[in-house]
Amino acid sequence: MTAISRIDHIAIAVYSITEASKFYIEGLGLSIAKIEEMPERGIRTAFIAIGESMIELIEPLDNSNTSEISKFLAKRGPGLHHVAFKTENIGQSSQQLKAQGSRLVYEEPQQGAHQTRINFVHPASANGVLIELVE
Ligand code: ZN
Repeated sequence: MTAISRIDHIAIAVYSITEASKFYIEGLGLSIAKIEEMPERGIRTAFIAIGESMIELIEPLDNSNTSEISKFLAKRGPGLHHVAFKTENIGQSSQQLKAQGSRLVYEEPQQGAHQTRINFVHPASANGVLIELVE
């Protein structure tokens, strides 16, 4: 039995949330549900709700090129950063993935935004896409 229930969000790296969100707000009629700053990671994120799933826009907090997103943008430009799956049990999902041979980024789940627990599956284990697990 899988603990994965749905796609939680799809994250897109952008230079500017203000610029990038015009497509979603003016073009698609959606709206930003919440904006959050994570200074420790050097990023700001905006979540746009689409039904039960969300688009997460991630921009660097400054141009210092030190955050993971700055490096990502410098290397590849804006684009798909990760896909997040909602799991009802991150321990079970992690164990199942490890047993199958997948490489997780963190040994133990980390504290994510809004009381969530998260981990990442390395792109090498998931066809080149960074996968986030959210409980
Ligand atoms: Zn995410």
